[in-house]
Amino acid sequence: MAMAGRRPGAVVLLSGGMDSCVCAALAERDCGAAAVHISYGQRTEERERRAFLAISERLGISQRLIVRNEALRAIGGSALTDGGIPVPQAGRLGPGIPVTYVPFRNAHFLSVAVSWAEVLAAAQVYIGAVEPDGSGYPDCRPAYYQAFNEVVRTGTKDGRIQIVTPLIGLRKAEIVRLGLELGVPFDLTWSCYSHEDRACGVCDSCVLRLQAFHDAGATDPIPYEAVPARV
Ligand SMILES: [Zn+2]
Repeated sequence: MAMAGRRPGAVVLLSGGMDSCVCAALAERDCGAAAVHISYGQRTEERERRAFLAISERLGISQRLIVRNEALRAIGGSALTDGGIPVPQAGRLGPGIPVTYVPFRNAHFLSVAVSWAEVLAAAQVYIGAVEPDGSGYPDCRPAYYQAFNEVVRTGTKDGRIQIVTPLIGLRKAEIVRLGLELGVPFDLTWSCYSHEDRACGVCDSCVLRLQAFHDAGATDPIPYEAVPARV
């Protein structure tokens, strides 16, 4: 447990979803964390911001930053940021990268986190990217983070900030189990792409999450509009 007032050793990107919540708990435990949240005009931005605040509070992370990225919404091209592109149901996703991919989003997020880490003199940036059974987004691949670390090494004052991805090799069910071991507040997290009151239960993010809790032999504590029969 971090001592109050300890200088943060890490900046963690905390969207408010289950992966970022587990990632924030690890960052806080291992380094003492400062948490950053980025609203980018996504459909559920209000709900995610509430989740960010509640999770930070519960984890005892007092140093917080909320910023707004206007570029991603203005650029669009994703079901999350463009009202004209519906959020697809998980079962109706075709092959390839889903339309919920936000073009190059994580680079924007990492840039903000690295800038803040540089100012705070924090040595690490934690991000809860997941590859094995995620949505197949290209900015969740390990090679991308290796390459980004090279950018950070050459583009910062001391070149010492490391981006760490503690969950990247885990399956979603393993993340649930790890979170339960750590006692993370899954009840405060929000993953749904489309709803802000009750999670829809049918978008890709909801389905992956429900499957993860099911596979971990646990019950997801958040309310759902509809839970697919196969979960
Ligand atoms: Zn949903």
